[in-house]
Amino acid sequence: MARFIFITGGVVSSLGKGLASAALGALLQARGYTVRLRKLDPYLNVDPGTMSPFEHGEVFVTDDGAETDLDLGHYERFTGVAARSTDSISSGRVYSNVLEKERRGDYLGKTIQVIPHVTNEIKDFIRIGEDEVDFMLCEIGGTVGDIEGLPFFEAIRQFSQEKPRGDCIFMHLTLLPYIAASGELKTKPTQHSVKELRSIGLAPDILVCRSEGPIPEKEREKLALFCNVRPESVIAAQDLKSIYEAPLAYHREGMDQAVLDAFGISPAPKPNLRRWEDVVDRIHNTDGEVRVAIVGKYTQLEDAYKSIAEALTHGGLANRVKVHVDWVDSEIFESEDPGPFLERFNAILVPGGFGERGTEGKINAAQFAREKGVPYLGICLGMQMAVIEAARNMADMGDAGSEEFDHEDVKSRSYTPVVYHLKEWVQGNHKVTRKANDDKGGTMRLGAYDALLTDGSKVADVYGDTAIEERHRHRYEVDIRFREKLEAQGLIFSGMSPDGRLPEIVEVKDHPWFIGVQFHPELKSKPFAPHPLFADFIRAAKEQSRLV
Ligand code: GLN
Repeated sequence: MARFIFITGGVVSSLGKGLASAALGALLQARGYTVRLRKLDPYLNVDPGTMSPFEHGEVFVTDDGAETDLDLGHYERFTGVAARSTDSISSGRVYSNVLEKERRGDYLGKTIQVIPHVTNEIKDFIRIGEDEVDFMLCEIGGTVGDIEGLPFFEAIRQFSQEKPRGDCIFMHLTLLPYIAASGELKTKPTQHSVKELRSIGLAPDILVCRSEGPIPEKEREKLALFCNVRPESVIAAQDLKSIYEAPLAYHREGMDQAVLDAFGISPAPKPNLRRWEDVVDRIHNTDGEVRVAIVGKYTQLEDAYKSIAEALTHGGLANRVKVHVDWVDSEIFESEDPGPFLERFNAILVPGGFGERGTEGKINAAQFAREKGVPYLGICLGMQMAVIEAARNMADMGDAGSEEFDHEDVKSRSYTPVVYHLKEWVQGNHKVTRKANDDKGGTMRLGAYDALLTDGSKVADVYGDTAIEERHRHRYEVDIRFREKLEAQGLIFSGMSPDGRLPEIVEVKDHPWFIGVQFHPELKSKPFAPHPLFADFIRAAKEQSRLV
């Protein structure tokens, strides 16, 4: 039966709660334990699938096809444990489940209330798979005091009461602001935040305090005294050069020891931190730098492409180079020649995206990369745009386009849909069917699917395998009917769905490195196990940087 660690936040948001949770998961693994991490989000959206990446950052897709919060990406990158649909829940999902049960009559006509119906639903969720791991880490989104968060805080309070004493602990993350004028770290906001927690029946065992510098002994004592924790359970979380330094940094601060102490586990198993020592060594000992342009739409918010940015960093770790990423808004290339912008980069990546805006710019960027021999990685929409570019400029189909951009108001425009709306495909051994006007939530081809790679192709070489499994999130698909025509011009369909109907990978023949993939390889990359496509893409970029 698992022990439970509940992670909450206070004072301000965006303190890196997800990162602290993920790093703690990694440290417990280093001590030989199995872990699973979960996110409980108070917002009312049913899932993040339809939330704007501008506002909420990327949607992280699990193998079993759930569209989840980007924190699940951190969890996976730090622990290597594949996230599942049951690792993330929002108030919207909780209420939707409760209301569905109410309509079905499951509550036998009772009055439906937050306590116990909503809190029971949350507790049931927390319990899923509790006998599978040693530690279950549950992060509560938002900050203590938020109205939406209350049912979650109440649920974890009840949960810890129902469990045997000592099976649940609480870790609270806060901020210690530094007042430069007086040269002091202030503990008062943390005291207030803990007071707020205690008013709803929760007492933290561990305090993780974000601060610019180390926490002086005096402040540590004060925090311990006023917040009712042991001084050694006050963990300083200082700003780091790289997030991947977090496990070692938290370990030095005693986080994992404090957690094991709080559970009364003694003697604590010795940690094996070799994996993280190697990662940190690769961060600090690099040989050169490569510059990668990400030509996309959601470039104002880096979190919109979180996993891609991380996977590029991992590619850098694999090759011991620093990866410098520039975010370029593809709309610029609709009116301007991409050449002068892009020629200073060693590689170009066009990420996934939705809608027509900026796509002509992506097509122009793909053309530049193909013609100039610059390494190109097209992901999902980035692959579709590369295919449209090849159709237009290699295969003489000047009117090639995608059905995604075929709106009512442009119906009159005639074009050849080399990318079409996928409405039927095979999953395992059953057929999935979608209608054109199905609602937007969860109607895509989502989650892990197999693909077969052509022997002797570049991608087969990169993967070192011809059978792969990758995660998908798309509605549109490259039309297989254009395969022959495109292959004759040098755009090779080197990866296909097992039934041979859906193109999964294309590559340009006689190009140093030009690969488009219909799936999202970035979701499976880890710092200690960089994804082969990203590792090889950065290797090609490194080679390119030595040419210029
Ligand atoms: N909009 C495209 C599709 O639905 C690409 C999706 C993506 O890039 N994730 O097929």
